Amino acid sequence: MLTHLECTRCGEHYPADRPQSVCPKDAGVLYARYDLAAIKRNFSSARLAGRAPTMWRYDAVLPEADPVSLGEGLTPMLASREYPNVFIKDEGLNPTGSFKARGLSACVTMARHFGLKKLAIPSAGNAAGALAAYAAAAGLEAHIFMPKDVPAANRIECDYYGAHVTLVDGLISDCARKVADLKGSDSWEKDGWFDVSTTKEPYRVEGKKTMGYEVAEQLGWRIPQGIIYPTGGGVGMLGMWKAFEEMETLGWIGSERPKMITVQAAGCAPIVKAWDEGKPAAEMWANAATLASGLRVPKPYGDYLILDILKKSKGTAISATDEEILEATRHWAKVEGIFAAPEGAACLVAYRKLRASGFFKPEDTVVLFNTGTGLKYLDVLETTAHGAPDALVRGAASAKPAPRQIGGIIGPY
Ligand SMILES: [Zn+2]
Repeated sequence: MLTHLECTRCGEHYPADRPQSVCPKDAGVLYARYDLAAIKRNFSSARLAGRAPTMWRYDAVLPEADPVSLGEGLTPMLASREYPNVFIKDEGLNPTGSFKARGLSACVTMARHFGLKKLAIPSAGNAAGALAAYAAAAGLEAHIFMPKDVPAANRIECDYYGAHVTLVDGLISDCARKVADLKGSDSWEKDGWFDVSTTKEPYRVEGKKTMGYEVAEQLGWRIPQGIIYPTGGGVGMLGMWKAFEEMETLGWIGSERPKMITVQAAGCAPIVKAWDEGKPAAEMWANAATLASGLRVPKPYGDYLILDILKKSKGTAISATDEEILEATRHWAKVEGIFAAPEGAACLVAYRKLRASGFFKPEDTVVLFNTGTGLKYLDVLETTAHGAPDALVRGAASAKPAPRQIGGIIGPY
């Protein structure tokens, strides 16, 4: 039922029967489009009952290909023990311990479908682990470019999955440049290379959109008043918004939409800054630094789409300091029994601020996305637990990274 790809900037259509990256005309993000009218005739939300407990239960609205699946998706929607009407969508229970599993499952599925061989990715950490795992499952090569100070778990998992890892002295934006350099090489097309950077290929958004389908299904097809989402690259935000539009066309929900809230780390908040200044796109954030490594994205490629969604949904953008994030991580663990990724715990900081300001009322149903498990950040959280939080703020030009030797397995770097 996938009919074509559509540019989110100029609206140009492109065929979906071959690998595509961004719009050749204006470098806009391409979205997969389906014959939703035909899907509506043949498939109803009632038919989801009894289907696979993974994101592939929504295969009616995903590309037709043999899925590379490790059981991703349909993660728990947990009622908060602290706030009535708040739900925590726990993406830490995905394969590889983060929400990145969804996008990479869809992306690697299509890469294998198209016969691609070598998949290159710049990553802040968790996407690298997810690509490495799905590439291993699909029998493809993963070529990872990530900052050298990512959490140890990200480096170790990529190594075990058999990925080719390049550690870069810089941020994800520097890693992206390394991938761009590779693209200029002669072997790029000949050897079946492909760049699977966030929003530079159309299918990671498709995997992430299943979070939107799950929010609706798990709340009994009620749409919450708000969704708070830790925004690095922002693909989940794009995907969920796309899901709501598709579900309305399919007749699964009405025209109501949640207020979409971006939360970013105060040390890297390009979307918050652009939102506050009323700008349609973000500027590159200088000296990005935060222990929430997944939020260390100085300029998300889909910035214009994220800002448009905040506006259309009457949402907002909020930042949280590393101190606030750490406190919230510990608070969630103690109060909710959820050991969250720092990026996920940032949602709690945002929710408290939005309650204090009256943006959300106690009776509003709000979904907070915990995007990963705290178990992938043990080195970060252990160091910060025993010292000043800023001792290990990642990427800080001034702060020296603490020396970290991990049991002799991997030496200092
Ligand atoms: Zn275009």
